[in-house]
Amino acid sequence: MATLTFQGAVGEVTGSRYLIEVEGDQRTYRILLECGLHQGGKEADAANTTPFGNLARQLDAVVISHGHLDHAGLLPKLVREGYSGPIYCTRGTRDLIDIMLEDAAFIQAKDVEWENKWRKRHGKPLVEPLYDMEDVERTLRLCKSQGYGQPVPLPGGVTLVFRDAGHILGSAIVELAVPSGGQTKRLVFSGIWVIPARY
Ligand SMILES: [Zn+2]
Repeated sequence: MATLTFQGAVGEVTGSRYLIEVEGDQRTYRILLECGLHQGGKEADAANTTPFGNLARQLDAVVISHGHLDHAGLLPKLVREGYSGPIYCTRGTRDLIDIMLEDAAFIQAKDVEWENKWRKRHGKPLVEPLYDMEDVERTLRLCKSQGYGQPVPLPGGVTLVFRDAGHILGSAIVELAVPSGGQTKRLVFSGIWVIPARY
């Protein structure tokens, strides 16, 4: 059996994150589709700081549809918390998240610097950024960039194909062929919606 869990972008449109679990003969394989930053307000901040917990070390692969922060902006936090497996994306997305994530880390460092100056003056506990430049560099080293239309074997017998989505540079519709209960289920992720389909 394979299961799909919506972990983000629930009741909101940012913080995209979906967990696909595939039961293999020996163990369960876990693939994370998207790892987006929640954007806007205190609730988003709280969602962003919530730890991934065991998931960071249990995941076998991560797949990213495109480089916008609400789809890829928490990747360095996942890596900071222990994820060290492959991150599959297109070549364009790899180039784009290089700039986007470094920029996000830079902005966070500046924000935290200001916040901590205020906190020090008021005797409040200091805060840490979600991630720093080093986490971003480690994240980029895990990226395995792919061309469009190429079948890519993922753990658990899953096959991934990126199709050109025309949303932003490198954006892709994600097609996953997932073994489930003796059948192959096809999961098509447009970058916005998930559509479960059957062969
Ligand atoms: Zn987008």
